[in-house]
Amino acid sequence: MAESTAGHVLVVEDEPDLARLVSDYLRNANFGVEVVSDGLDAVGAVREYSPDVLVLDIGLPGIDGFEVLRQIRSFSGCHVLMLTARDDEVDKIVGLSLGADDYVTKPFSPRELVARVQSMMRRARSSSTAGVQPVDEPGSGVHEVGELVVDEAAREVRLAGVPVMLTKTEFDLLARS
Ligand code: CA
Repeated sequence: MAESTAGHVLVVEDEPDLARLVSDYLRNANFGVEVVSDGLDAVGAVREYSPDVLVLDIGLPGIDGFEVLRQIRSFSGCHVLMLTARDDEVDKIVGLSLGADDYVTKPFSPRELVARVQSMMRRARSSSTAGVQPVDEPGSGVHEVGELVVDEAAREVRLAGVPVMLTKTEFDLLARS
């Protein structure tokens, strides 16, 4: 770990070409980068490496990205950028509700990914004591996490201001998480 880096990023991605592409771009942007390709290894790597930002694929061998997110949230406040394999709103919503901060959908531009990581890194540094706690209004039953708003009373979910249609099962999954 070099002292002069712009911050530390852990990349969890099981496709070797994509992992290499993402880590090359991040290293060129002066980040210290570690890469793991398995969900189980990812949890241990977050513990050891204490990254500022975690770039997390959802489809992984071992345990999936959602389970990684659940497990690391018990001990880490690092910023999380999810890589979603398809334009699946439910994946994004579940990820955001579990504590991810942002997502990009594959195929994505590596430059855009680097820009998102840089923006997270700025937020991480300006609010290092505040962590990444969701902004909950006490008693209102409205939870906001990044672009995601879950209104439990109205049973309504909005992503970036756009209402999202969920089945009852999907909504209950969110309300539990
Ligand atoms: Ca994958």
